[in-house]
Amino acid sequence: MTERHAPAALHLRGVTKRYGEVVALDGVDLEVAPGLITTLVGPSGCGKSPLLGVVAGLTAPTAGRVHLGGRDVTDLPAERRGAVLVFQEHRLFPFLTALEDVAFGLRMRGVPRRERDRQAAEMLERVGLGGLGGRRPAELSGGQRQRVALARALVLDPQVLLLDEPLSSLDPHLRDGLRELVVELQLERELTTLVVTHDREEAVAFGDRLAVLFDGRLHQHAGPRDVVERPATGEVARFIGATEVLPGRRMRDRVMSPIGPLPLPAGVSGPGDGGSGGVVGADGSGGVVGALGAAGADVEVVLRRDRLRLRAAAAVTDSGSGADDQVRSERGLLVGRVAAARYLGTRTRVTVTIDGHELTVEAPSAELAAFGAGAAVTLEVPAEAVWLVPAGSSW
Ligand code: ADP
Ligand code: MG
Repeated sequence: MTERHAPAALHLRGVTKRYGEVVALDGVDLEVAPGLITTLVGPSGCGKSPLLGVVAGLTAPTAGRVHLGGRDVTDLPAERRGAVLVFQEHRLFPFLTALEDVAFGLRMRGVPRRERDRQAAEMLERVGLGGLGGRRPAELSGGQRQRVALARALVLDPQVLLLDEPLSSLDPHLRDGLRELVVELQLERELTTLVVTHDREEAVAFGDRLAVLFDGRLHQHAGPRDVVERPATGEVARFIGATEVLPGRRMRDRVMSPIGPLPLPAGVSGPGDGGSGGVVGADGSGGVVGALGAAGADVEVVLRRDRLRLRAAAAVTDSGSGADDQVRSERGLLVGRVAAARYLGTRTRVTVTIDGHELTVEAPSAELAAFGAGAAVTLEVPAEAVWLVPAGSSW
């Protein structure tokens, strides 16, 4: 292997891409962390592939600049950028053997035959295909073809590895193995890696950082835990899932919602706390958006399903001589009825109806075993379950 360079930074500045009327990317600013895996996630059609195309040099942006390894590469041809793209569909040459395919890019660079065959064989070995170098694509499984595609990219010793839904054409049981391989290879090389996926679970598990794109706009770029626990917008909360999103209004010491008054998020205190609101900026820096701090602000209330608590209705009524509205609201206690309970193995998902609104609680099955359809329940919404984002985030 060639000597290693320091991990390369990748910056996008105001990148816009229009196809006629379609705005595929809309002023995207993104600083991809050097030497880490960043997952780019969003629904189908949000602009993920166009973004990779712009970085790889296969797509010219309508506006904006791309900086890679400290250079402005916006006007450089793809082969001079040091970024290599692996496509969703492994586009192998049908008439080349795996070895010839992996060696192809080296051949284009004028590497002599013996040397390129040596490097290609070594790379095939590394991706777990030692001994299969003589096979053509038709003689390889989908997972093996995707490994060839990965080897073909890595043998070029890129500064930045771009993967466009690398696992989505594979059977689920093959995905874990290939994902682990990508992570291993990335770590070995400290390769700045940008992986596209539309699978939210994969996005959270794969990357060191998570960038969430909707309609060509970057809504949030942060660590996976921040994105899950502190979504920047209602769209992010809905897409990443495991949440309920309700309209609401922030009051001084609580937030009003269609299911009743709820506590403010942890860290957002009540009276006298003029400045804070429980929301991060799109850069995930934890910066607080002041508008949410104002009493009377319209918000969206994000409730985390795994932090909601169910109690049998009687239990609360018994303990609750003071279960008047004030106490209920401070503790986030809501009265409802179980609409459905679904056993999922280690976890159970219970849907509760409160004032005509359905909410889902998810918890270890042992905690929720007692709640069958029709049961009267009290739903406890602790402050840790609550997060606020600006209403109708007008992105
Ligand atoms: P994603 O990878 O997130 O699914 P798409 O590939 O669907 O994103 O691209 C986003 C938008 O850009 C879509 O509306 C798509 O039709 C449009 N688009 C992408 N590539 C092209 C192209 N080469 N020509 C015209 N429109 C394109
Ligand atoms: Mg795509």
